[in-house]
Amino acid sequence: MTIQLTHNGVLYAADTDRVEDCSIPLRFGGPQPNAFHLPRAEAVVARGGDFVGDTRQGGSCNCETVQINPHGNGTHTECIGHLTNDRIDVRSVVRDALFPAVLLSVELSKTENGVVVTAAALQRAIDRVREQTDFDVWPERFTGMIVRTLPNASTKNERTWSGSEPPFMEADAVRFVAECGVRHLLVDIPSLDREDDDMLRAHRTFWGLPAEGHESSHGYADRTITEMIFVDDELSDGFYLVNLQIPPFVLDAAPSRPMIIPVERMESAESPNPTT
Ligand SMILES: [Zn+2]
Repeated sequence: MTIQLTHNGVLYAADTDRVEDCSIPLRFGGPQPNAFHLPRAEAVVARGGDFVGDTRQGGSCNCETVQINPHGNGTHTECIGHLTNDRIDVRSVVRDALFPAVLLSVELSKTENGVVVTAAALQRAIDRVREQTDFDVWPERFTGMIVRTLPNASTKNERTWSGSEPPFMEADAVRFVAECGVRHLLVDIPSLDREDDDMLRAHRTFWGLPAEGHESSHGYADRTITEMIFVDDELSDGFYLVNLQIPPFVLDAAPSRPMIIPVERMESAESPNPTT
């Protein structure tokens, strides 16, 4: 199916058959990424009376009880309720069926603070998109920003980030994204913040919260952060539609599955054919 859409007054098309999954498969019995030393995601066969929830063990069907901590077990989406006394839930925040987003490949920088995404690296990636594609829409606001850090090793799919000083976003970089008006930020690192930053300063900046306290009244309750995505190298930087799928958890965070569809600019009927 082809969707035609208008963004900032320009006509685009998106082929829904070209959708790509940017989540990390959550293998309950196999290798998993892990962050913040949180327990692994587990699925345990349900048992009760004569019932066993495993057909290989003689059960009538398969039926497992799942234990998960979204923040540590792979791709997940969280909302301002992660930090506030108001238990705002991600289900009520993620309501867009599809939103326009820009995919950016961003080189990591080694600093004395650690390995970081800098505002300068984000700006370079944006400049490359503007030069190499016909998206003249920046700096018009995209609803979403997808950050793929380089190098883009597939080991991100099962890396134990816990205790390894994983890359994070520098304060200037988060401020830049927040000030662009991005509502949904998706990253392939385990957290916007330095692993040992108990104040979650980068999260607070993105959600417009003060440095301390757990009041939600001043924050952006319509913004989400999605962490530990994986974006295949085959996908080039540029314009996508995002369908951010989450289970209906009434919690600050839930596992998620961002599905992204490449968007192409439509030629207008009267534009001259450059090959003639
Ligand atoms: Zn998280």
